[in-house]
Order: sequence, then C-alpha cells, then structure tokens
Amino acid sequence: MSPRCAAILAQVDAFLDHERGALERLRFAAHLALCPPCDRYVRQLQEARRLLRLAATPSESDLAAARRLAVAHARPREAKG
Ligand SMILES: [Zn+2]
Repeated sequence: MSPRCAAILAQVDAFLDHERGALERLRFAAHLALCPPCDRYVRQLQEARRLLRLAATPSESDLAAARRLAVAHARPREAKG
C-alpha cells in the first residue's frame, strides 16, 4: 500500500460523512478512480455502512415480529397456570 493510499484510507470515514471540503473530496474521488484496491475497499465500507443503517432502523415488519416474539415469551406461564 502506498503512503497516499494509507492517507486516503485513514480519512475514509470523514470523506463518507462529507466532513471534508470539495477540493479534498475531488482528490479522494480521483484517487479511487486510479486505485482499484482503494476503490474496492471504499465500496465495501459504504455497503457495510448501508447495512448498518438498515439494521439501525427496523421496518414495520421487524417491529411486528418483535411484538409477536415478546407476546410469545410473555404467555407460556399463563398457559401452564
Ligand atoms: Zn489507493
């Protein structure tokens, strides 16, 4: 890995969070265009962040499933009694 790659990857979170200026973002994008390993890494990171966001915001069906589970766990004692 070149020093330039290390510098890019060290700041990748800041770039993805748009915490850098336009010129720096342009340099970042230019590096990715010329450097397939960095490009692949950043794509994987973006995908991972997307999945984390999805996991952090449960859908309606997730909430319904969680309610069913909670009810199923609350009932057995009543059923026995
Ligand atoms: Zn690179």
